[in-house]
Amino acid sequence: MSVAYEARAASGLEGLGLTVAREQLDSVAQRAAAEAWSYSHFLGFLLEGELHARHERTVKLNLQFARLPYLKRLEDFDRQAQPGLDPRLLDELATTRFLDEARNIVFLGPPGTGKTHIAIALAVLVAERGHRIYFAHAIDLARRLTQALAENRLRREMNNLTRPRLLVLDEVGYLALDTTQASLLFQVLCERYERRQPVVLTSNKAFADWAHVFAGDAVMASAALDRLLHRSTVVHIRGDSYRLKEKRQAGAEAALTPG
Ligand code: ADP
Ligand code: MG
Repeated sequence: MSVAYEARAASGLEGLGLTVAREQLDSVAQRAAAEAWSYSHFLGFLLEGELHARHERTVKLNLQFARLPYLKRLEDFDRQAQPGLDPRLLDELATTRFLDEARNIVFLGPPGTGKTHIAIALAVLVAERGHRIYFAHAIDLARRLTQALAENRLRREMNNLTRPRLLVLDEVGYLALDTTQASLLFQVLCERYERRQPVVLTSNKAFADWAHVFAGDAVMASAALDRLLHRSTVVHIRGDSYRLKEKRQAGAEAALTPG
């Protein structure tokens, strides 16, 4: 009788798709016997391995789905280089509480000041919490939606942008949108707002200039801002471009090096 059940343990785990638990069964069972674990300790330990492996797999898939241009972490962000940015704010954002509050995060400032870096780092944290994320440049997103509209598959494309738990909308306002593009971007913002799905947005344009962003349509721009800012944290990043600073530094060091 007991022999049959022992064989059932492995095949049962296999059959239920608990492949990691199946792989670890023998070694965990041996340890359990050697260390005189309780039955529930044994089961909990075995499941922990399975759950951990599943989570890792989920995070990996989330990051693949995200189409991040590159991977950045908050730990890689040099806070000293950006003294105007309150470190407590970064810590608060890192809790990803904004997700549960359906709060949008908007980074405004000149190029090279780390807006995209921080946006990506926040998205990675959200992916690590097990959620789907998606990254898109505003202009790419607008072009893709326009094409989808022309090809009668707008709904599907829209779902890609509204279903992920977090959307990073990068570089809003760098390139002007036409009327169709503007209204499609507006639709994305509306749908996400209604579904309480937050957006992390970066822009080099002050809100006062957003009519330009929305193809000169001031009414649409203010309706978009209304939804975006209703629950939001707006972060103004000032200061010099980190890229240029690095370049200047490298230049200065080269000048000091003879030959
Ligand atoms: P923005 O989106 O504001 O134009 P980015 O986030 O693209 O700027 O930053 C430009 C480059 O400089 C990126 O490679 C980014 O990782 C780096 N960078 C910017 N600010 C910092 C910082 N404070 N610490 C470390 N790297 C930074
Ligand atoms: Mg950027």
